Amino acid sequence: MDPPTDVSPDVTAGPDTSHDYDLLVIGSGPGGQKAAIAAAKLGKRVAVVERRGMIGGVCTQTGTIPSKTLREAVLYLTGYAMRGLYGESYRVKQDITVQDLLARTNFVIGREEEVIRAQLQRNRVDLLSGAARFVDEHAVEVVGDPRGERSDGRRFRGEHQTVTAAKIVVATGTRPARPPQVEFDERRVVDSDGILAMEQIPASMVVVGAGVIGIEYASMFAALGTRVTVVERRPQMLDFCDAEVVESLKFHLRDLAVTFRFGEEVSGVSVSERGTVTTLASGKKIPAETVMYSAGRQGVTDQLAVERAGLEVDDRGRLKVDEHFRTAAPHIYAVGDVIGFPALAATSMEQGRQAAYHAFGEPVPSTSAVSPFGIYTIPEVSYCGATEAELTEQSVPYEVGISRYRELARGQIVGDDYGMLKLLVSPDTHALLGVHVFGTSATELVHIGQAIMGCGGTVDYLVDAVLNFPTLSEAYKVAALDATNKIRALEQFA
Ligand SMILES: Cc1cc2nc3c(=O)[nH]c(=O)nc-3n(C[C@H](O)[C@H](O)[C@H](O)COP(=O)(O)OP(=O)(O)OC[C@H]3O[C@@H](n4cnc5c(N)ncnc54)[C@H](O)[C@@H]3O)c2cc1C
Repeated sequence: MDPPTDVSPDVTAGPDTSHDYDLLVIGSGPGGQKAAIAAAKLGKRVAVVERRGMIGGVCTQTGTIPSKTLREAVLYLTGYAMRGLYGESYRVKQDITVQDLLARTNFVIGREEEVIRAQLQRNRVDLLSGAARFVDEHAVEVVGDPRGERSDGRRFRGEHQTVTAAKIVVATGTRPARPPQVEFDERRVVDSDGILAMEQIPASMVVVGAGVIGIEYASMFAALGTRVTVVERRPQMLDFCDAEVVESLKFHLRDLAVTFRFGEEVSGVSVSERGTVTTLASGKKIPAETVMYSAGRQGVTDQLAVERAGLEVDDRGRLKVDEHFRTAAPHIYAVGDVIGFPALAATSMEQGRQAAYHAFGEPVPSTSAVSPFGIYTIPEVSYCGATEAELTEQSVPYEVGISRYRELARGQIVGDDYGMLKLLVSPDTHALLGVHVFGTSATELVHIGQAIMGCGGTVDYLVDAVLNFPTLSEAYKVAALDATNKIRALEQFA
């Protein structure tokens, strides 16, 4: 492990009785949770403030967990993953309803919520129910919900209480941004929150915005048989990913009857009882039962009164932090989506943990540069490290090793004949520079490459490794051999 990079200068030596808590965390999403638990494990007195019905944050209630459970339900009920084996008409259930999908989603959300509550209780973290608002830089007013819950199970009334803390972590996340010219009626024109309250699966849908959330939902509805049109202002989508992988994804989505309108702007959406018509600036009109907007997200800081703590937010409601997640007020930290990129659950967790460690003088390891990206489209995409475009731009030479699932026994067994794994390898050092996976279990498989990269390993390890057979992990060995053979050819000709 890397040596500690920095330790907070104002380490809390003994118990600080001048405040109600050593740490107050605002928001119980992944960032807030992990900050709270990390501080509690250090023996600190900790409270988390969360609004009613939002335990676990956007992650558990409206974002990651519901969307990924929905995806799993779609994959299972449509029989999509098995169509390669049993034919295009294969279905587990013919008429899939919203209730079929939501039953699984609500079950998982409920269980996750319980796990989080139990974890906070076990670690003696108080859960204060309500909306937090700064009074000054150490005091926060908890407004709203007439109930609260202490870690010992005692309930208390929490209409209005002011709590003070030596350190504060802001982990209030984001909400979908809503363009002012669009009227969201929560029925026909919705955002990614509204999609979870849909009454029926639409026969046709316009998705505005081909970012990760937009394209994930577009692929889920396409797999359900909805005719989806994706409208994106930019000329392409997911341009931070490997271009070949994005091409494969687009090919698959087109195969599921998705239409892409790149380089197009929405100028208006009209709604009637029968449906919607989306008008593009180019004059095209797209009729659809439902329109889903996925046009970026806005930091949830408008109710926080951050100015009372001497802080300010940018035009998207985000807080600025330094490398230790400290805001302009050094005892107030901010983590998770409210600080912006990469706005992922796993990253938020790690930021929360590191903020708490820094706040209480624990050594903080420097963050590993190798973090994975997972995009849960159907089929899924995942990568870590550099893309070919990035390496080319930086003039870093690389060789490519590719393995296709259809050439793996496990690929045939699971009926995935389109998946692929691509390794980018340094011809000089044989170091892995990037790992790109498309297809079944991509988001799991990527971690093998991440571990090798994180430990400074090379492709030679994969060439010599014996892997379980038949597995999709075998793709690593095949791709490693492919890259090595190409490097050898280069050496022979040199
Ligand atoms: C549809 C969708 C799908 C996603 N899929 C993935 C995925 O597959 N993988 C992935 O890694 N990430 C995914 N994300 C992103 C992921 O959900 C976020 O990165 C993560 O939830 C951010 O965590 P956070 O700690 O910033 O808090 P959040 O989860 O955003 O939660 C913030 C919490 O703060 C609370 N809060 C706000 N203001 C106050 C206040 N004043 N007082 C008290 N409480 C307050 C809110 O009620 C909320 O519960 C997805 C997001 C969406 C929307």
